[in-house]
Amino acid sequence: MELDLRDRVVVVTGAARGIGAVIAQRFAVEGARVVACDLAFSTTADGEVADGEVADGAAQHPLDQVVCDVADPDSVRAAVAEIVRRHGTIDVLVNNAGINVEGTVAELDWERWKACFDVNVGGVFLMSQAVAPAMQRAGRGRILNAASFAAIVPSVGSAAYAASKSAVVQLTRVLASELGPWDITVNAYAPGMVPTAMNGFAEMPAVAQDRLLDTLSLRRWETPDDVANLLIFLASDQAAYITGALLDVSGGKLATQIPARAYGR
Ligand code: NAD
Repeated sequence: MELDLRDRVVVVTGAARGIGAVIAQRFAVEGARVVACDLAFSTTADGEVADGEVADGAAQHPLDQVVCDVADPDSVRAAVAEIVRRHGTIDVLVNNAGINVEGTVAELDWERWKACFDVNVGGVFLMSQAVAPAMQRAGRGRILNAASFAAIVPSVGSAAYAASKSAVVQLTRVLASELGPWDITVNAYAPGMVPTAMNGFAEMPAVAQDRLLDTLSLRRWETPDDVANLLIFLASDQAAYITGALLDVSGGKLATQIPARAYGR
């Protein structure tokens, strides 16, 4: 299948590390002109990934970087204007930036609740609103929003995070309808458990890791590449008729009640 993304302008938020850094790299290897956005970068615009995860293959264009706080309307406006000035348009927006705020409802204070919504939902709103006019002018576009498995089945202590990711799903559906007339598709995706700095899964004691892995049909940690593979397809012309969807890329976290039985556990 030809997923031709050559020369497409792809903006990835939260791309200085973690899943976003790998998504940016992978789109670059597909030939896209990638703009990584984040609060700050520890590397120069040479395509190097900050946390050392480098995708196979060579980027065909150097990775561009723009500092942007997705929760700040002025910062978003300035960043998107700068990206359009540098690249002419924006074909694909990956709203990957997100933060995890943990705490039971009893523990959470209003400031942390608001911060979670400002970044996770506000960021998707502000970036999509700012980027949509360029896509409307072009009469095409792809917006891909990071939800989470927590938007489907939340955990204890995830009130702010899970509620914010559920809001991303509904925002995605509304945007999909509002931007449909310009052939812009808008989808959300739900990763399951990708060990990153956000969650520290890889640093947990073995027993705790086993408990989490036992909830997965595929019984392995998800990699950023598992997420990137889905997004590259969704960004391509081959996914032209998929919009308003929530794509589960969680390794079968929803498939059965006790998947560990298949592993004799
Ligand atoms: P991470 O913490 O490793 O990286 C998040 C990136 O977003 C960082 O580079 C950070 O600087 C950036 N960021 C945070 N606030 C920002 C802001 N206001 N403006 C711009 N950039 C900002 O996280 P990750 O694990 O790579 O997660 C990426 C996305 O995937 C998040 O939206 C997360 O909720 C989602 N997700 C992750 C998992 C997982 O298991 N890691 C599972 C489901 C969903």
